[in-house]
Amino acid sequence: MPKEITLAKFAGFCYGVKRAVETVKKLKAQNPERNIYVLGELIHNTQVIEELSSLGIKTLKELPKKGNGVCVVRSHGESPEIFKKIEEAGFEVYDLTCPDVKKVQQKAIELAKNGYYVVIVGRSEHPEVIAIKANALQYSQKVIVATTPEQIKPYEKELKEHKKIGVVVQTTQMISTLNDIVKFLTPLSKELLIANTICQSTSMRQSEAKELAKNSDLMIVVGSKKSANTTHLAEVLKDITKTIHIETEKELESFEDLIESSQKISITAGASTPQNIIDKVIKHIEVSP
Ligand code: SF4
Repeated sequence: MPKEITLAKFAGFCYGVKRAVETVKKLKAQNPERNIYVLGELIHNTQVIEELSSLGIKTLKELPKKGNGVCVVRSHGESPEIFKKIEEAGFEVYDLTCPDVKKVQQKAIELAKNGYYVVIVGRSEHPEVIAIKANALQYSQKVIVATTPEQIKPYEKELKEHKKIGVVVQTTQMISTLNDIVKFLTPLSKELLIANTICQSTSMRQSEAKELAKNSDLMIVVGSKKSANTTHLAEVLKDITKTIHIETEKELESFEDLIESSQKISITAGASTPQNIIDKVIKHIEVSP
């Protein structure tokens, strides 16, 4: 019997990533003589970074002390201090922070200004979270980051005394992570304000993939292992059905037996996965026994 292969509708580039990649290419095309840099990888995808590099758009691992040309701030956003440093180094800043990420930053600022103890649900080492935290810290020192209640426990007494707690969420987090944190914070607070700032693109991708997983023997998640939204997606799906997370079709060779024994296979992909990589995965599965 031929395999039933389904590709998720919300697989691949989200609008924030699409906007960042298209804008940066346009910027270089319109300014061929100028240096165009991106601070950090524009998206978590090696092929896209190589393509940008071939067009003359260079990725800066660190901000140099001096430079010239345009320095792009990627969709994750940056702290106000980094924005200042880019200008001080002599670059023109081009801000491509995703509008959804900007909303989280604004919400965190608003909560800090209004005297809430700010809890950011997210991974402390993720660039988006680092920038959200830095924005809130401009107005209050009462800011913590956590993905589990255990990480909040050391602040339990302080939070209880503060009474007013405000929560924002990294755009690519899972709703279950937010729920666990809210459950822990509820008895500690007199006033708990929750801003569910998980972006719509992430929510739709996760709910569609969960539905597909219920009717699939195997889910294949395509995307970088460094990408937060892709790894979260694979984590969610693993609880529902057999799930593999791959970066390119080449990795499928290690899962030949699993693919062969699966009749219904569904494919989804993270927000930074280009369409051509998804296409290659589908092609590989189609010719599998
Ligand atoms: S995942 Fe959401 S917040 Fe992040 S770049 Fe895409 S649309 Fe923006």
